[in-house]
Amino acid sequence: MANKAIFLDRDDTLIEDPGYINRPELVKLLDGVDKALIEFRAMGYKLIVVSNQSGIARGIISEKAIDEIHDRLKQLLSEKGAPLDKIYYCPYHPDGVVQKYKKESDWRKPGPGMLLAAAGEMDIDLKQSWMIGNSGRDIEAGLRAGCKTILINHHSHSGQHKPGEPNPDYRAVNIKEAVNIVKKHHRSTGGNPTQSPPLPQSATKPMPQTAEKQSKPLPAKPEKNISGGSTTTDSRMEQLLDGILEQLKSMRRSEMFSEFSTTRFLAGVWQTIVWFCLLISIWFLMYPTKQDNLTLIALGFALLFQVMALTFYIMHGRK
Ligand SMILES: [Mg+2]
Repeated sequence: MANKAIFLDRDDTLIEDPGYINRPELVKLLDGVDKALIEFRAMGYKLIVVSNQSGIARGIISEKAIDEIHDRLKQLLSEKGAPLDKIYYCPYHPDGVVQKYKKESDWRKPGPGMLLAAAGEMDIDLKQSWMIGNSGRDIEAGLRAGCKTILINHHSHSGQHKPGEPNPDYRAVNIKEAVNIVKKHHRSTGGNPTQSPPLPQSATKPMPQTAEKQSKPLPAKPEKNISGGSTTTDSRMEQLLDGILEQLKSMRRSEMFSEFSTTRFLAGVWQTIVWFCLLISIWFLMYPTKQDNLTLIALGFALLFQVMALTFYIMHGRK
């Protein structure tokens, strides 16, 4: 029986992306990644990373350094009981300065080359597999390979479709929600969670050889009909309301699937105190011998604590 896999983008999907990672010490797992991978494996999926590494072609990082970074990633995940099966990367780029890697390649996402290669090498049924990443090129690679796709949108908290980008099958605020989506899909399709595949002995270094040009067209995905091309006030208002609704849904999902955060907790504490101060001020206001001074003092404290609560909320949002 063919295997199924979760294909994972690397930067900003599994690990933090501080700009450019060129040393193993910079590898830091994002919140919840280890637990998510454990759950994916328990559902019977192989775990495969597919990553564009054009820095090799551009001459700003060596393959040796990439190997060390990936060894560190594998080590961090193995220590947490979530070992990867394999990491594929694409060193090619048409504008590269290293002659060996200066070329177009179907391995480079949005090309599906890495996923197709993995399918051939590891007997993977792509229709049963998923591509999870944080950019349109991840989604396009997954769609072109015939996988189901989840776009992770950590920062914008927006469910809006960006012009020119392919539509993912699903959107998630983080990898924790992505696990939930895959689980729900299993339930809705009556998917029987298979036994976990055996843990990998050791992940081997991928050797991208020739990259065959694929001309498989993107499967046509129905676009959400946001506006019928009309510029009437009604349709604009409808768009605006749709946008607000999406934003609210996304914020709610973000709350549901976010990890514990000290700043958010402190914001909640200050917010509770604000409500308490407001209650006290109302009580002073309704007291038979009305105490205006005390009411004002309580309101002043409420205002002060509200500012503190907002500060912590903003700090949490910027994390
Ligand atoms: Mg990424």
